[in-house]
Amino acid sequence: MACVEGRETLGGTCLNVGCMPSKALLHASELYEAARDGELASLGIEGTPTLNLAQMMRQKDASVTALTKGIEFLFRKHKVEWLKGWGRLNGPGRVTVTHADGSHSELQAKGIVIATGSEPTPLPGVAIDDRRILDSTGALALAEVPGHLVVIGAGVIGLELGSVWRRLGSRVTVVEYLERICPGLDEETAKTLQRSLSKQGMQFRLGTKVSGASVTAAGVELSLEPAAGGGAEQLQADYVLVAIGRRPYTAGLGLESVGLAADKRGMLDNQQQRSGVPGIWVIGDVTAGPMLAHKAEDEAIACIERIAGHAAEVNYGAIPSVIYSKPEVATVGQSEEQLKAQGRPYRVGKFPFSANSRAKINHEAEGFVKVLADERSDQILGVHIVGPGASELIGEYCVALEFAASAEDIALICHPHPTRSEALRQAAMNVHGWAMQA
Ligand SMILES: Cc1cc2nc3c(=O)[nH]c(=O)nc-3n(C[C@H](O)[C@H](O)[C@H](O)COP(=O)(O)OP(=O)(O)OC[C@H]3O[C@@H](n4cnc5c(N)ncnc54)[C@H](O)[C@@H]3O)c2cc1C
Repeated sequence: MACVEGRETLGGTCLNVGCMPSKALLHASELYEAARDGELASLGIEGTPTLNLAQMMRQKDASVTALTKGIEFLFRKHKVEWLKGWGRLNGPGRVTVTHADGSHSELQAKGIVIATGSEPTPLPGVAIDDRRILDSTGALALAEVPGHLVVIGAGVIGLELGSVWRRLGSRVTVVEYLERICPGLDEETAKTLQRSLSKQGMQFRLGTKVSGASVTAAGVELSLEPAAGGGAEQLQADYVLVAIGRRPYTAGLGLESVGLAADKRGMLDNQQQRSGVPGIWVIGDVTAGPMLAHKAEDEAIACIERIAGHAAEVNYGAIPSVIYSKPEVATVGQSEEQLKAQGRPYRVGKFPFSANSRAKINHEAEGFVKVLADERSDQILGVHIVGPGASELIGEYCVALEFAASAEDIALICHPHPTRSEALRQAAMNVHGWAMQA
């Protein structure tokens, strides 16, 4: 088994410039804000903190290095050879690797897995210059706190990184083309999150498109226009983060040498991880489905099982999705809008964290748990959580969905007290109107 990686370190986007560094900064900035704005003082923990941004970045980088080294260790342990360089398909069963010194090596394999991931989608007229106009990688490594940061795109990455810099002291304006944040997310959940982020000081310009940007001595001047048409206006920013999404990465991959082609969005097609060409497999961000690390991981497991001749399946209906804002948002399964579009009758069970004793005692009682269950069978179809620890709580409902549990199943399971997980049970009870704690 060999893995060809062009980057200097292992771990892909997730470890190097994605999930892990963003979570490191979200954690540190949350603590800083709690100390600075009196949340800790109200608990009797006093003192005004000073921000040492360089140290905050160093601890993030140290954690990332430890994690990427961890993958090196796992490669050695499981005898996976790491071939450093950029891989290119060179006909069926063959890969050419170009190393940093310009030398090449040729590999032959019965099975080739394309897992080349994705890259930030560029926005015409707003070119990334890695100085003032940044993509997510740049926004994870700024050397100063922007006075005014404009985030283009109210998706997960924009809201998470916008949260980091707002907590560290920036004025943050999020400009979004659509009339809502987080397209695809259950609408009530998205509105609750937007209200909460607005209360924290994040400003939203919805239904607005950015049509151009010019870098000036003082920062960046953006041209904004109503998405529905109308006059342009200018918006000044110190830094701009372009976060309008990611696109599959297949540049220089030699797809044509094996007769493969990406679709219009640059995406490679797959049927149960098989590309159209025998012996070539496709997983992760480079192919259809949510661009999430755990989705890529699930596909990797299924793909390798299939190569080994075993049965395997990825349940795309039970892949959770999280926004690591404060409050966190976590969802699995279908939204109310999706169920309505299908004409599928459903019941809603909701429970607010303001009635959950653990959340109240911790002063983090914002948000709710919402369980959507089939009206006739009571099978759980979707769960949407806004609130403290939502990213951890959602795991219970991933299990529930995989086991085709009913809301009653969850309602009858004993949950520990006092925990936020009780809200999961109470919401399930409320599908039938039995919640006891509210
Ligand atoms: C800021 C940010 C935050 C994120 N946060 C989360 C999160 O909290 N949770 C979550 O689930 N997901 C998150 N993601 C998404 C997650 O990082 C991706 O979904 C995940 O990394 C996809 O995995 P992958 O293996 O498909 O591709 P990648 O992780 O992108 O790995 C592909 C690798 O292939 C290498 N490569 C590409 N072409 C070649 C070639 N020709 N030869 C050799 N090597 C090549 C690249 O260098 C890269 O290292 C985040 C992403 C970003 C940008």
